[in-house]
Amino acid sequence: MNVLVLNAGSSTLKSHLYQFDEGLAPEEPLSPRWEGYVDWTASADHGVLTARAGTKGVEQSLALEIRAADEGVSALLQTLIGGATRVLDELSEVDVVGHRVVHGGPDLADPVLITAEVKDVIAEVVPLAPDHNPAELRGIESIETALRHVPQVAAFDTAFHRTMPEEAERYPLPAQWYERGVRRYGFHGISHRYSAQRAAQIMGRPVDSLRVITCHLGNGSSLAAVRGGRSVDTTMGFTPMEGLMMGSRSGSIDPGVILHLMRTEGLDVGAVNDLLNHRSGLLGVSAISSDLRSIETAALEGDPRAELAITMFVHRLRAGIGSMVASLGGVDALVFTAGIGEHSARIREEACAAFAFLGLRLDPERNRSSGSDRSVAAADSTVEVLVVHAREEWAIAVDSCRILSGGIG
Ligand code: ADP
Repeated sequence: MNVLVLNAGSSTLKSHLYQFDEGLAPEEPLSPRWEGYVDWTASADHGVLTARAGTKGVEQSLALEIRAADEGVSALLQTLIGGATRVLDELSEVDVVGHRVVHGGPDLADPVLITAEVKDVIAEVVPLAPDHNPAELRGIESIETALRHVPQVAAFDTAFHRTMPEEAERYPLPAQWYERGVRRYGFHGISHRYSAQRAAQIMGRPVDSLRVITCHLGNGSSLAAVRGGRSVDTTMGFTPMEGLMMGSRSGSIDPGVILHLMRTEGLDVGAVNDLLNHRSGLLGVSAISSDLRSIETAALEGDPRAELAITMFVHRLRAGIGSMVASLGGVDALVFTAGIGEHSARIREEACAAFAFLGLRLDPERNRSSGSDRSVAAADSTVEVLVVHAREEWAIAVDSCRILSGGIG
């Protein structure tokens, strides 16, 4: 079975092709057979497409003149069947296409086969995810145009968190706002679900028996409390702005700060959005970058703002982990995933140091070594601590394969 996964963003397209034998997704994650990437921001007048065929280790790169989702998707698909990265003879060999969709609204709790009704839901919640859902819908329609009757599956970043209890999902606002959709949706759900399941697999324990805290720490960061494989709490909320300090997002701040800035500085909606989404977080505090690598380097060179940005990030991460421990009533495994989670030994070490009172202990040498899908806990730690490589596209491929084979959906 050939499973294509498409992650269509507003300025990029990412796509991966996986091949499964006999319609069965294997337990251990595979590398994609082919991957393609379009970056529309690479230059002012054209996009750049890069494709790579994993097993052949070859690449091709093209300039794309027209900035249109259809053009990007069809150019990507051409590199599957032509040129140095050709891995299929015909596009009709694609059996299913899985899409990453950020927002599935209040009701979609699982990946689903895309129908006209599912497309309507994705369109209805555009006001909740104006930067994401429109591009994802265009990606689905581009595949419809290019591949006609191929079945398509949508996996939603919000879906995993639909199992949260009402007390975690609701904001303490008048009930009418909940009914009108103002609630904690949570995001990064594909990553949280996958990393919790992968943790259980690495531990050799059924996920049903575990309390896991998953720390997805990338440009955007969030935590999830996962009991028995189901999300019971998470740090992101109505939007991905709530919760932890992030690359350029503030995370949670007193809403009174926004009122104050609007009243006294005359900031309008656009200016507040720009401040909190694009100019805060690690970037705002360090005044260097939103990229933790640059900040860690500057901190090592003695830059006090860089050092402060890191210590604030850790302070808020610890508070978030503590809150997830409380929601779970304990913790069996703490999982670090995504760019910062997988690669920053310092962040892991300092975050974990606060939980020594639980008997959680890292092995300093394991923590500093590289590699993913491994334990970094000390032999006598009461809590397992794992580093898991984020594989959202793989998780979507597995979901798509299962739905097509009638396993779920
Ligand atoms: P996204 O959320 O956009 O998918 P990633 O998961 O790739 O992003 O995470 C990006 C973040 O990971 C950046 O802050 C980057 O600095 C950080 N990161 C990546 N590699 C390292 C590293 N070796 N050490 C520290 N931070 C890293």
